Amino acid sequence: MATRMSAPSQIPTPIVARVSLAAWQHNFALLKAAAPQSRFLAVIKANAYGHGAIEAAQTLAGADAFGVARLGEGVELRAAGVTKPIVLMEGVFSSTELALALRYELDLVVHDETQVVMLEERARTAGAGVDAPRVVWLKLDTGMSRLGFAPDRARNAAERLRALPMVGELRVMTHFACADEAESAMTGKQLARFDSAIKEITSASSLRDSLASCHAGLANSAAILQFPSTHRDWVRAGIALYGSSPIVGRSAEFLGLKPVMTLSSRVIALRELSPGQSVGYGASWRASRRSRIATVAAGYADGLLRSLPSGAPVLVAGRRALLVGRLSMDMITVDVTDLHDVLVGSEVVLWGEGLPVDEVAAAAGTIAYELLCAVTRRVAFQYL
Ligand SMILES: *Cc1c(COP(=O)(O)O)cnc(C)c1O
Repeated sequence: MATRMSAPSQIPTPIVARVSLAAWQHNFALLKAAAPQSRFLAVIKANAYGHGAIEAAQTLAGADAFGVARLGEGVELRAAGVTKPIVLMEGVFSSTELALALRYELDLVVHDETQVVMLEERARTAGAGVDAPRVVWLKLDTGMSRLGFAPDRARNAAERLRALPMVGELRVMTHFACADEAESAMTGKQLARFDSAIKEITSASSLRDSLASCHAGLANSAAILQFPSTHRDWVRAGIALYGSSPIVGRSAEFLGLKPVMTLSSRVIALRELSPGQSVGYGASWRASRRSRIATVAAGYADGLLRSLPSGAPVLVAGRRALLVGRLSMDMITVDVTDLHDVLVGSEVVLWGEGLPVDEVAAAAGTIAYELLCAVTRRVAFQYL
């Protein structure tokens, strides 16, 4: 068992994120099998959705490439010795970033005119042969309205990129807005716009050869699992790798995904309350009966969301109980009246094995992505 503790290291802490490498590899294999013809980009941005980016790259070493959102995330992986392709999925935001991205051999997404100009400028000013050719993903906006070229601007961007010495291979991508909804017409519309843009791009003679096999990538986790027509040459899986369901109305368990992170802490105090006594800041929850309340060492400074309301589920010594009162910086309070053998020191699972992170996220009015990314440095990570 390798343990990476938050600084200062080796000091015990009650709150621990256990990361199951076996579950991680299981989810990876399941997703790969769902898109067997496609190459696989494992999305490990945001510190691998809070799980540890370096550990992710090691555990998911069978991926064909890794995806990150920011330059620093890519540099961190290179510094850790990751040699696989790493795609900067928002591209670079300045010429300084561009120079570093090229130096660290990161692949680029180009989604905006300003980035094309940055690359052209770099090609003019950097000495010949300074920048080795890289993979560049041209991003199209097919309906997300966030990043990417409008389909009718794509051909111009593709032609200009193709002319640059540091653009070794040009690929085309887009991102779905509604792939988590089985019934939405949006995914089909985006796919149709993408395909007609590709036709338009490849009709340019200068691009036909370089894009003949047209390396295209569209599918996120949800599309991998429910829209095979979107798989194409590359898929990009994020959330499902971590064992959360990417599909509205389908549980992770139903999809065969296993929780990777189990966040747990300990009961640090117990008390009996009489009817009418309140718990926590704002006295927002009052006992309606004689109640036993467990105080647990986990709060928003560990990454729990303060929006988790009274009634949100936790597991105490393996059984379900409900959060009561307001969540504070370092503690939560849990009603354990109906559980008999809870002691100071009992384990409390906040999400993970036995308590799907999707269920906790729903209780907080959010999605698992946000809960997982929010886990802070104060939590000790154990890779099992
Ligand atoms: C984050 C991201 C993904 C992964 O999405 P999931 O829903 O987590 O599978 C895929 N593609 C791009 C461009 C992303 O930014």
